[in-house]
Amino acid sequence: IKIKITELPIPVAFAPAFEGERIRKDDMYIEFGGNKTEAWELVKSVDPSEIEDHKIEIIGPDIDEVEGDPKRLPLAIMVEVGGKNMQEDFEPVLERRIHYFMNYTEGVMHVGQRDTSWIRIGKEAFEKGFRLKHIGEILYAKMIDEFDSVVDKCQVKIITDAEKVSELKQKEAEPKYRARDERLASLRDDNVDKFYSCLLCQSFAPAHVCIVTPERLGLCGAVSWLDAKATYELDPTGPCQPVEIEGLEDEVKGIWKSINEHVEQKSGGQISRISLYSIMEDPMTSCGCFECIAGIMPEANGVIIVNREFDGATPVGMTFGELASMTGGGVQTPGFMGHGRYFISSRKFMSAEGGPGRIVWMPKELKDYVRENLDKTAKELYGIDNFTDMICDETIATDPDGVVNYLQEKGHPALEMDPLM
Ligand code: SF4
Ligand code: ZN
Repeated sequence: IKIKITELPIPVAFAPAFEGERIRKDDMYIEFGGNKTEAWELVKSVDPSEIEDHKIEIIGPDIDEVEGDPKRLPLAIMVEVGGKNMQEDFEPVLERRIHYFMNYTEGVMHVGQRDTSWIRIGKEAFEKGFRLKHIGEILYAKMIDEFDSVVDKCQVKIITDAEKVSELKQKEAEPKYRARDERLASLRDDNVDKFYSCLLCQSFAPAHVCIVTPERLGLCGAVSWLDAKATYELDPTGPCQPVEIEGLEDEVKGIWKSINEHVEQKSGGQISRISLYSIMEDPMTSCGCFECIAGIMPEANGVIIVNREFDGATPVGMTFGELASMTGGGVQTPGFMGHGRYFISSRKFMSAEGGPGRIVWMPKELKDYVRENLDKTAKELYGIDNFTDMICDETIATDPDGVVNYLQEKGHPALEMDPLM
């Protein structure tokens, strides 16, 4: 017999209404990740016999044992689930929910996913008695509650011991992330018969619809085509729905009649046309949880991309936050687009405008993150070796002239492409 848990044993409130809550530096008690410390999260299916149901383990110091200002700790959240209907393909779907469950918690902010997660706990929540074990209680209860068709047993490990966080990342998390990416890499948009929509973010961006394809993941970076498919299988009336690929209007821009109709219906009539592969013409809307934003830089005939973790100015004169405020909210903003990190190296990344060869500037950290795959794609598309090195970054220049000089020096392909505007 399964019991539905309604009351959570935590000292703060828990409700979807807290999702949009931001915790500013001054109100923050402690933070994890966000490029300052290592932080990652993983849901892993294991044999139910290896799970002690409702076990919550804290490995390393708790948040009341940390000195310093601002307080920081590394963090690994490992949720192990088991059940006879559980499948490995469902893992990323459950894992993405960590983001929502933590954000539903009053005084807790969660951004990102996998090994880009960034978590803040507010002073008020700490004073009310919120500790790490409560994260475990929330995740345990919600996994059992919301995924009762597949999760029979669940245990949670919360690790703040720096050495263990690194060691388990290499041993447990990275192989999983890699295997998921590799499975996805073998799929192409033109060899599947359905795409999926994701409406999870309509709770705060009511007109926003992500169309998720094998080569274009959801802009949060956490919902791949395989994940959307698994979400649909887990819950056929849930947030991800299949979209037929019919009535091709423009192959290069990625426009289909059936997709437009789906988006129109799901956005409540707000958006009636989208081009999957264009940033200039009817780009997909952005909610607010994009990992990156691409924006045109007319002087360079290309786009800059900035990731959420980068807090400096970009060559278009705006920071990530400033770009986010004009890109988010579920509206179409031609020339600007939120997207996942993984999309950058996709052949479909703004392919209507020439593809990833349009990228002229990215923060160095992001360049390093995408380098391997991006170089491979650029070689395939343009026959260019080491394309990532042609892209400018903040260590080279952030002023438009400096960027353009660098591109000229490197013979960057964007300079030779059709005018973007
Ligand atoms: Fe779904 Fe898109 Fe929101 Fe990600 S950003 S959860 S894919 S709607
Ligand atoms: Zn979103």
